[in-house]
Amino acid sequence: MKKKEMPIKKQFLVNYTLLFLILLVIGAVTLIANTIYVESVYEEVDQEFFQELYEDIEREGLETSFQKHELPENAYLEIVSRDYRVVKQYNSPNEAGYQYEPNAFLSEIDHYETDLIIPSNGEEYLLLYLPVERFFLDVFLFTVLFFTICLLFILRWYVKRTSTQIIEPVEKLLTGVDSIIKGNYETEIQFQANKELNQLKENINRMAAKIGEEISLKERSELLRKQLILDISHDLKIPLMNIQGYAETLSQFPSLSHEERQQYSSIIMSNSTKANRLIQDLFDLSQLDMGASWVALEDQNLTEVIRDIFTSFVNELEAKGIHYDVEIPDDLMTVKLEVHLFERALTNILQNCIAYGGKLLAVSLREDDKHAILIIEDKGKGIPKDYHEKVFEPFIRVDESRSTYTGGTGLGLAIAKKIITQHHGIIQIDPDYTEGCRFVIMIPLSAES
Ligand code: ADP
Repeated sequence: MKKKEMPIKKQFLVNYTLLFLILLVIGAVTLIANTIYVESVYEEVDQEFFQELYEDIEREGLETSFQKHELPENAYLEIVSRDYRVVKQYNSPNEAGYQYEPNAFLSEIDHYETDLIIPSNGEEYLLLYLPVERFFLDVFLFTVLFFTICLLFILRWYVKRTSTQIIEPVEKLLTGVDSIIKGNYETEIQFQANKELNQLKENINRMAAKIGEEISLKERSELLRKQLILDISHDLKIPLMNIQGYAETLSQFPSLSHEERQQYSSIIMSNSTKANRLIQDLFDLSQLDMGASWVALEDQNLTEVIRDIFTSFVNELEAKGIHYDVEIPDDLMTVKLEVHLFERALTNILQNCIAYGGKLLAVSLREDDKHAILIIEDKGKGIPKDYHEKVFEPFIRVDESRSTYTGGTGLGLAIAKKIITQHHGIIQIDPDYTEGCRFVIMIPLSAES
């Protein structure tokens, strides 16, 4: 299941809430640790501690016991009699024999929270003075240290978490964009992050792919343009050379016979017709390339248009002994056409079928929900599959020698395809037809059809 992408705004809210909760938890943990620490310090000076200390004092004296129990430097011990006189002391500012005022003695021990006193044998008090400041300093230092360590660990985890969520994807975006700038348009940035970063990533990936596509299209069209110029010059060169050569012969040799003159003139004529046709076809092709603005489509009955076009071929077909089979329904089939252009496209295809197509030609027309479907097929040599798309490009000839022989300009199918496209239709060669060549043309039916 795809993880739901979280917007960055929400992500920050979650992160800060998390940080706040974590700080609360650290605070609480520090408080608990603090209490445990304080209790442990107090525990050190509990009843048992005093009992032990007192016994040690009785056995080994104040000084040894003081050191044995590692009491702080500014702590002191006093044995005080029931009438508040200092009997013995170690480290105390009060000398032995010092007499406390009863109230002063009691307030003295009350004053410091850590001053502890217990009656010993009922005759004397053991007074242990522990410096309060130091105790609080210990607790304070412990608290600060504990809190800081916890905070450092948590911050390390928090920074790692935010960096995985935001900084790492941004770094990947930067590296990806850098690579795209260097011209690697196939670069695909990959990561899973927040909604906005994911969208940015997808848009950059899409943009890179689009730029790559555009550039390869531009390169291809540049290549095609160069190829086209090369093809035009090549196809124009031969007829122009012929015209020049025969015209020179005619002018330089006045002694040529009448028949020779006739023959050379007709060669000049046919070559100039060929050059003229090529230039006309090129002109038509570029005009069709300019766009659809000048093509005025109007509702026409396609059955009638096709019948008229085909009728104009009947004489030629019969003269060449080509059998034909026509299946055009009588019903009205309305499509939007520019009749002269459409006639031009069909003429190109039919002429090819006659030129390359053997002895049988079939034309049929039907319709589906949205299109009129026109099929023109012959039983000739056909067009190899790897040429099925290319053959609609200018100057592509399957069999160079045969095409030159038929006198085609190599632009017939390119023009036909452009015209059909201007009619919002499509033209294809049926890849499953193996007995010759089958062109399938689909034109959208008009709404009122
Ligand atoms: P051309 O002027 O050479 O006929 P076209 O663009 O009309 O140019 O056709 C391109 C090439 O496609 C032709 O040279 C020919 O090799 C091939 N071709 C076109 N129609 C047919 C067909 N009906 N049968 C076999 N080959 C065909």
